[in-house]
Amino acid sequence: MAKQESMNSPDSARRLFVSDVSDQGTDVVLRGPSKRYVRDVLRMGRGDSLVLFDGSGMEYLSTIIEATTRNVTVRIQDKRPGTCESPLRVLIGIGLLKANKMDLVIQKASELGVQEIIPVAVRRAVPSLASDRAEQRRERWLKIAREASRQCGRTTVPEVRPVLPFEALLERGREADLSLLFTTAATRPLGALEQERAALPGQVMVLVGPEGGFTPEEEQAAQERGFLRVGLGPRILRAETAAITAMGLVQYTFGDLGGSHGDVLPTDP
Ligand code: SAM
Repeated sequence: MAKQESMNSPDSARRLFVSDVSDQGTDVVLRGPSKRYVRDVLRMGRGDSLVLFDGSGMEYLSTIIEATTRNVTVRIQDKRPGTCESPLRVLIGIGLLKANKMDLVIQKASELGVQEIIPVAVRRAVPSLASDRAEQRRERWLKIAREASRQCGRTTVPEVRPVLPFEALLERGREADLSLLFTTAATRPLGALEQERAALPGQVMVLVGPEGGFTPEEEQAAQERGFLRVGLGPRILRAETAAITAMGLVQYTFGDLGGSHGDVLPTDP
């Protein structure tokens, strides 16, 4: 399991990702990095509470029953479905970016409740991933997605797909109820699109270009496959800014950020 990273708040500090919790019975034994994280980083011991999640959508309320130098044993007391998942399924296809920018987009996509992240090989993408490095980078992206999901309280972890050719990504777009091509050439904002639609989409595909943007041929191919062009205002945003803004706007307009379509939270005083 991935080495856990440092914590932000006491609440987030008590959550831990463990693969396939439900297959492990009532007592879950943590070893290696998970054991070290709980015992040495969080300094938790017998009697302390911990929330486990395995990406299935459930979370498991647990208590540590033993903590030794070899392992930490956790007893599951209860399980409940998570409450942080959006009713909207958002997928993002993003032209392959430089490593640190890609990391940022994956972290923010996880926080924004995206379910699937698909790096796309496009014409003007700066980096090209040699196949031996591709799997290594995907492992890193999966770790980032897992850690961001843990930190923000999600009970699922976005899928991070292997790099997909542009054509294959366009095919995937057919599965969505709404496929959006974010491009500097478009002036129509997402809000205008919302007003044109009679029903809320259940699944939205967001497509954002790399640092160099899409080629005219790529834009045309996307439109031919039913992608609608959407603009993000008059300024040219960096690809990572555009991706984060687009995901936030889609979640706000059709998902659970705006508060009007999902469970409405109690009004603040
Ligand atoms: N010169 C490139 C162009 O005009 O396409 C700039 C590309 S921009 C740095 C990277 C990506 O972010 C674009 O391909 C697009 O998907 C998105 N983007 C940036 N600013 C945008 C805007 N104002 N409206 C819509 N999409 C935008």
